[in-house]
Amino acid sequence: MLRKILIANRGEIAVRIIRACAEMGIRSVAIYTEADRFALHVKKADESYCIGSEPVAGYLNVYALVDLAAATGCDAVHPGYGFLSENPQFARACKERGLIFIGPDADIIRRMGDKTEARKAMVAAGIPVTPGSDGNLGTVEEALDVAERIGYPVMLKATSGGGGRGIRRCDSTQDLRRNYQRVISEATKAFGSAEVFLEKCIVNPRHIEVQILADHDGNTIHLFERDCSIQRRNQKLIEIAPSPQLDEAQRQYLGGLAVLAAKAVGYTNAGTVEFLLDDQGRFYFMEMNTRVQVEHTITETITGVDIVEEQIRVAAGLPLRFKQEEIVRRGYAIQFRINAEDPKNGFLPSFGRISRYYAPGGPGVRTDTAIYTGYEIPPYFDSMLAKVIVNALTWEDAVKRGERALRDMGLFGIKTTIPYYLEILKHPEFREADFNTGFVEKHPELVHYSNKPRPEVLASVIAAAMAAHTGL
Ligand code: ADP
Ligand code: ADP
Ligand code: MG
Repeated sequence: MLRKILIANRGEIAVRIIRACAEMGIRSVAIYTEADRFALHVKKADESYCIGSEPVAGYLNVYALVDLAAATGCDAVHPGYGFLSENPQFARACKERGLIFIGPDADIIRRMGDKTEARKAMVAAGIPVTPGSDGNLGTVEEALDVAERIGYPVMLKATSGGGGRGIRRCDSTQDLRRNYQRVISEATKAFGSAEVFLEKCIVNPRHIEVQILADHDGNTIHLFERDCSIQRRNQKLIEIAPSPQLDEAQRQYLGGLAVLAAKAVGYTNAGTVEFLLDDQGRFYFMEMNTRVQVEHTITETITGVDIVEEQIRVAAGLPLRFKQEEIVRRGYAIQFRINAEDPKNGFLPSFGRISRYYAPGGPGVRTDTAIYTGYEIPPYFDSMLAKVIVNALTWEDAVKRGERALRDMGLFGIKTTIPYYLEILKHPEFREADFNTGFVEKHPELVHYSNKPRPEVLASVIAAAMAAHTGL
């Protein structure tokens, strides 16, 4: 088994990995930049090292991180999600220094990180993909030709894109002409690659993805699916496992398809195969994420499998502990990404000091976060502050538990997406499990909730003010 792991990440996922290490008796090494001096992962790890003053760039410094891991006697590196997690050079640099990279091989990361290569691999394996360009596009004329052939609307996508960025829907030739250069420059800035491709836009699809696990002995299994259709601008807000919108036959079919996809590329470690489901019940492969996903939590909740622990075990060369038929699920889990954003103000990021925080608790509630009372949120990073995960035996009860947990949570000093999620939870389409990726756009009225504090909150504020005034 591994003895010491460097965690090349920050925030809640760094804390999540530290927790797995602690349970497995593995020493954890945290890294941080100056802006993260007071971050929780720095306090929680067994050892912590400052890697410079550049807030974000420090976390992306491949050679500094690999050097540090070697110098501190680590035998492995966990990349988390975002940052270097899908960077094949980083995986390769680890290997060259004799460090185990906790994830698939560098070559798989490279192939699946390139969305056109991934599409080709899936076509070869017999997995359905959306109609689209054969590879990357050379010119806007070529794009117009492909769009003519597959029919509008089309999606123009950055080949190396991720995190919901570098994607534009085009409804007409004018649209495509207008967006072509825009997506290229966006992709160049965000991903350092100017490659783009086209695929058919599936109108109002459901985003359904499958968690898979594969070891080095050829065992590949799936842990059922997640429904991530509640999105804003192609970014996930609320995730659900399993999808309340699939029947058992669809579930079995999709799980099998994901395992086939993973096997076809010789995949190892944890990964996610993302699909779109159209209104005719057809599934299309969209992309594969070669890392732990933000929403791995809900799969852990319904199956009881610790995905981060399995990642570490597989990386250490151990076989999976479960056969497919041993994977069972129970009930439903919902994850809410609590973002420091103001829904009433176009979801503008809301940074600052958290004046008071307490986690929701009680039955069926899990909170993954790296915030605490008094924590000052640095403005340089992702706006996701916490993940609240609830579960219950039925869909109806999971929804009710979600409402209760979000009301239970105390998070003051900044604006968050919590009140917005409470509106979504009240909506009949959500409650009846009938929604697609167009839900958020279709319901702009949901940001019109009242900002007035609830009576009990008001009472405690008044009591505190009176106590301060009278010196009690
Ligand atoms: P998930 O796919 O796990 O649901 P997200 O798509 O929300 O996760 O991405 C998780 C984090 O990783 C976000 O901070 C996102 O900005 C970042 N990210 C994902 N893919 C890329 C990429 N190709 N390049 C840069 N950042 C990325
Ligand atoms: P990322 O790498 O940023 O996660 P994806 O390719 O996974 O990008 O797409 C992100 C989201 O964009 C999807 O969840 C879906 O909502 C939307 N999307 C992507 N491709 C299509 C498509 N062909 N038709 C309709 N929606 C799409
Ligand atoms: Mg995706």
